[in-house]
Amino acid sequence: MMMEKVQSIIAALQQRHFEREDEIAGSLLALLNGEHLLFIGPPGTGKSMLAKDICQCLENGQLYYYLLTRFTSPEEIFGPLSLESLKNDEFRRKTAGYLPAANIAFLDEIFKANSSILNSLLTILNEKRYHNGREVCDVPIYSIYGASNELPEEGEGLQALYDRFLFRYYVSPIDGDENFLKVISNRIGDFVPPVHLCMQEIQENRSKSASIPIDQEVLSTILALREEFRRNGRYVSDRRWKKALTIMRVAAGSLDKPSVDITMLPLLQHLLWNDPLEKEDIRRNIFQACVSHGVDLQKLRQEAEELFRLSVRSRNLVDAGARFPRIIYCHDCNGSFTNLEGMSKHHESNPKHSFMNPFDDARGRAKGYRKYGFEELVSLLENQHGWKLTEKSNTPEARLYRKEVESLRERQESVLKGHDMERQNLLEGLARNIWLSQRDRKELMMIFDHRIIAISEINQILADIEKVLD
Ligand SMILES: [Zn+2]
Repeated sequence: MMMEKVQSIIAALQQRHFEREDEIAGSLLALLNGEHLLFIGPPGTGKSMLAKDICQCLENGQLYYYLLTRFTSPEEIFGPLSLESLKNDEFRRKTAGYLPAANIAFLDEIFKANSSILNSLLTILNEKRYHNGREVCDVPIYSIYGASNELPEEGEGLQALYDRFLFRYYVSPIDGDENFLKVISNRIGDFVPPVHLCMQEIQENRSKSASIPIDQEVLSTILALREEFRRNGRYVSDRRWKKALTIMRVAAGSLDKPSVDITMLPLLQHLLWNDPLEKEDIRRNIFQACVSHGVDLQKLRQEAEELFRLSVRSRNLVDAGARFPRIIYCHDCNGSFTNLEGMSKHHESNPKHSFMNPFDDARGRAKGYRKYGFEELVSLLENQHGWKLTEKSNTPEARLYRKEVESLRERQESVLKGHDMERQNLLEGLARNIWLSQRDRKELMMIFDHRIIAISEINQILADIEKVLD
């Protein structure tokens, strides 16, 4: 079975390549897809050894390795000219042992490629064909692994070459002390893979995968991501999206999954960045989108908070706790009231006391203060002075806000619905998904669990708004 094979190969490679979980999985997945992969980063981080080891996993795999310079000539990459063919006025190369005959190639310093080799190289990358003299030959290449210390500058004519590498990894030097010491002190022998992959099973997996359905939530997450990228001015070509879907299908197919589920989405982090600087942002976008099913909880929270602010502002006019523009005094005792709450309490406990009108002018006062009953004064203040005291919960604003609370609650509940089952599915899906690193699996779970906290916080804000509006 493909899954068991891949699993044992990954485990064996991890014994030799420390801190390269992502790169190992990606290199194998590129191989299964027949796609190319680029390693960016300083030299001396074991990239060529990884390519060589991957090639060992391929039954009768032929490796071609070359370190390019600005002066690399076509002979060095595609093979020497055949003297035989020259006699016949032909211009053919003897390609045996060179790139056109390889299954796996590692091209170091790939962006040093000069114009004399660039076109043929692009044709091999794009079409897996090589124009040898008058003949167009199919090239048995699976994957080309390119490596470079840095990205090509714009205007060097290398953008097309860069674009052909679907998988992109930024490879840093070993981080952990223990791993570092192992790397510099151990002598590493040849890799003996536990099992071999053969061309036939790779092909079978590819054709089987082509018809695997894609879960609706994966598609809606992709739409949400595309929108997010657009907002941030990031461009991902339709072709790249299409290939990314194929890769997720092949990854799912190799694990015998019935469909492409959301646990495949983190693979996108290695397929969608252009600049290493945007890598982490894109990763975060993908992980967030993955667990929220396109409902952006952060945005939901912002909306709830804004609604809370608006409701509180509207409350200043209607709420019993809000401060009166003027103090109201009791006519019969020393009571003074700064809000409706205090005034009505006083009225309840002293129903016979009456109040003074804070707008009574000198003339009114000269005649002796006029006394007002509670209801009388309240309606006078509302009708003549515009105080909103009793019309508490039925202002047009309050009605509108209540509707908005409802719609926010619906969105929040759509995330909450089936949460437990989703969590279980996610856990199981991740456990089976050997294409993801431990770090990715842990982080995805963490982000998923954080959802519950975010949701309960939003819930609290919505409850607060309702309290304000009631
Ligand atoms: Zn009183």
